[in-house]
Amino acid sequence: MTSVSPDTFDPARQLSPRANAADEGAIIRMAQKSRELRARGRDVVALTVGEPDFDTPENIRDAAKAALDQGFTHYSPVAGIPELREAIARKLQRENALPYPASGIVLANGTKQAIANAILSVIGPGDEVIILAPYWVSYEATVRLAGGTPVVLPSSVEEGYKVPAARIAAAVTERSKLLIINSPCNPTGAVWSRRELEEIAGLVAAHPSLMVLADEIYEYILFDGEMVSFGSLPGMLARTITLNGFAKGFAMTGWRLGYAAAADPVAKAMARMQSIVSAGANSFVQRAAIAALEGPRDGVTAMREAYGRRRNLVIAGLKAISGLRIGDIPGTFYAFPDVTSFIGKSAGNTRINSSDELCDWLLEEHNVATVPGSAFGAPHSIRLSFAASEDDIKKALTRIASGLALLA
Ligand code: PMP
Repeated sequence: MTSVSPDTFDPARQLSPRANAADEGAIIRMAQKSRELRARGRDVVALTVGEPDFDTPENIRDAAKAALDQGFTHYSPVAGIPELREAIARKLQRENALPYPASGIVLANGTKQAIANAILSVIGPGDEVIILAPYWVSYEATVRLAGGTPVVLPSSVEEGYKVPAARIAAAVTERSKLLIINSPCNPTGAVWSRRELEEIAGLVAAHPSLMVLADEIYEYILFDGEMVSFGSLPGMLARTITLNGFAKGFAMTGWRLGYAAAADPVAKAMARMQSIVSAGANSFVQRAAIAALEGPRDGVTAMREAYGRRRNLVIAGLKAISGLRIGDIPGTFYAFPDVTSFIGKSAGNTRINSSDELCDWLLEEHNVATVPGSAFGAPHSIRLSFAASEDDIKKALTRIASGLALLA
């Protein structure tokens, strides 16, 4: 089938500035490129997308099937079905010390949508949002979509990829409305300690119009340390929009279900935003989500243990490559080595001028797909997802090591 295109089409005039400014993103671009190379017969190992390679646990699938068979296939209330909002309120209280009532919880078609609901609810033109880099791609794009101004604060591998509270405090202005914290963090795997979060809570307390968006979607993929929910710190519950979802911990990426929990007026605003673009989240998936939260967790534990073994492989492999700098990876399934020492080096006639070029070169010459750090506001690093088999990880590490050894 040929594509449909008008005879004359001027994107600058006929598409919105918003659409023209939107970038599909480096993750999708690298994943696409590796698919194309594979289609041409190349044996590419892709460590690009942040997607569990496990199937959704059986009890969750069974609950969805039962809901379908019971005809639970109609529109759901915009904020979600009451049974699930209550189950989430219980979960947040039990596991995260977050006493949001069920009325403060808004289900969405994926955590991405919950993030959009949250940002569109509190951010308007001129508002500043403090984003700690390296950061997950959608935050900055969504803030721009809302007309807000991202204020990006970088951090280094030596800092454990965590911006110290003093630097955050220095960036707060009277226009700052939101600070985004993602712990465990995509793309770095960093986990913020209670003490570090307490320091941030101190500065949030001192700025009454500043709220925090706490994205906790990787909470179950934690190997070392303690999961501390920002909203559980004294005085922070009403100041925090807590985000979470089912995609990562329960291996439910394709099911599209996430949620935000917030003070009631913010929750009501988020539901209003969602009612404009998509109504309530998928009905039978919400029934499955209750099974996920209240059923056995052995699947979740087994997946975490597998990611933990892979994490050890990846750290050992990357540490053995001289010139790469890498810190601990206490959570998530990502490694984010700093590749500064390879920038400006050459292999034969090819000079590597940036991490983007390094990723292209690793893919084209060495058949391993990674994502350049520029996509995450950190142009000196690259991201490897180890949501892949141990065989693929070993193969990728060997290829990266032999590739980088050629750069001089
Ligand atoms: N937050 C973070 C930090 C993520 O990495 C992702 C997915 N890559 C999401 C949110 C979005 O999750 P979902 O698939 O539920 O939209």
